[in-house]
Amino acid sequence: MKTAIVVGAGIGGVTAAVALEQCGWQVTVLERAAELGEIGAGISVWPGAAGVLEGLGVAGLQKVAAAGDPAGMRRSDGRWVVEAPDLGLELPVMIHRAQLHELITDKLGPAVTIRTGITVTEVTQNAARVVVRGVAVESGGVSVSTQYEEFTAELVVAADGIRSVVRGALHQGYAGPRYSGYTAYRGIAEVETGDGGGETWGRGQRFGFAKLIDGRIYWYATANRPAGAPAGPGGLHGDVTAAFADWHDPIPALLAGTPPEAVLQNDIYDLATPLPPFVEGRVVLLGDAAHAMTPNLGRGACSAIEDAGALAKHLRATPDLSTALSRYDAERRPVTTKLVKRSRAVGRLGQLDSGILIAVRDGVLGLAGEAASLRGKRRRMEQSRV
Ligand SMILES: Cc1cc2nc3c(=O)[nH]c(=O)nc-3n(C[C@H](O)[C@H](O)[C@H](O)COP(=O)(O)OP(=O)(O)OC[C@H]3O[C@@H](n4cnc5c(N)ncnc54)[C@H](O)[C@@H]3O)c2cc1C
Repeated sequence: MKTAIVVGAGIGGVTAAVALEQCGWQVTVLERAAELGEIGAGISVWPGAAGVLEGLGVAGLQKVAAAGDPAGMRRSDGRWVVEAPDLGLELPVMIHRAQLHELITDKLGPAVTIRTGITVTEVTQNAARVVVRGVAVESGGVSVSTQYEEFTAELVVAADGIRSVVRGALHQGYAGPRYSGYTAYRGIAEVETGDGGGETWGRGQRFGFAKLIDGRIYWYATANRPAGAPAGPGGLHGDVTAAFADWHDPIPALLAGTPPEAVLQNDIYDLATPLPPFVEGRVVLLGDAAHAMTPNLGRGACSAIEDAGALAKHLRATPDLSTALSRYDAERRPVTTKLVKRSRAVGRLGQLDSGILIAVRDGVLGLAGEAASLRGKRRRMEQSRV
């Protein structure tokens, strides 16, 4: 049996493990966290990624995910910039991140071995194989051993996230992650609201929310801030509550209905400099390790899932590893490079903090929304005549 090592058991890594196993590979997954799983709040899953998961037999997504609403965009006082435009475009479903991870790992079979508590520190390769070195760590990331373990395989899939050690080994001069200028808060509110959700853009701040299938509300918020700035005396919950206190309903109520200890915060980085090939010999980069993007399009994890689907498709199509990996790179690099750029551009627009530029932005977006809505109506009328 052909052997593969997947570094990292995030959404990208576990999807890759499922996909590789289904192509007949024996897979070892090395994950530095002590336990398999995801923390986090909600996540949007777009049809492309949902299709890959369905193809892998990951069952039940539709049962545990809430259908997306065609959400609009508001100003901080609640006035609509673009009112819930039903454009007939594709929409994502919303699911809790931990549930998505669990649905995927449920599909892992006997040819996959998971090793948690192993931090990969080094990757070397020759024409025939790749050697991965790892060291045991405890949950805080502290090394508990100086005893390195070596793992050998024919293929290594690096799904070790935006600060990928494997990418560092392959591309030593690479610029690395770049700070976007803003931070993101996330949480799940345990309150009910009749509001269908959507995004609200203010001055250097944004807030968005959507319903999960159990009625709870997943929300996210952004604020311009220096990287690494510590939370205020009220903690993350205090910071985000203060920042959005005078925003329209139900935003303050959603924050009040969120357990303070459950608020998450991440400074937002991306891989602004596109990587040279995602592939080097027998090592392939996937997900955030290859193309971390800002979360403005809600596509990072979806792209990781689609990467895994593409990798498996090309490995299945040819027995020649090098050809399969080149085809993977040719398919996934252009698409994801565009997403990284688009996502960054949306973030820049959303985080504007000049009053004049914001007025222009909201005016242009309002007009664009109206035009798109008219086009959507016309399209639907034409379709109903056929
Ligand atoms: C605020 C926010 C909201 C988002 N919303 C969405 C959304 O709605 N939809 C969407 O599609 N995406 C979203 N994303 C993006 C998404 O979270 C990421 O793109 C996705 O998690 C990337 O998955 P991954 O498996 O590539 O990497 P990661 O999730 O980062 O997983 C990497 C794994 O590798 C492990 N690891 C790291 N280094 C090592 C090592 N040296 N040795 C062993 N293991 C290692 C880590 O512990 C981790 O488990 C959002 C991101 C943010 C910050």
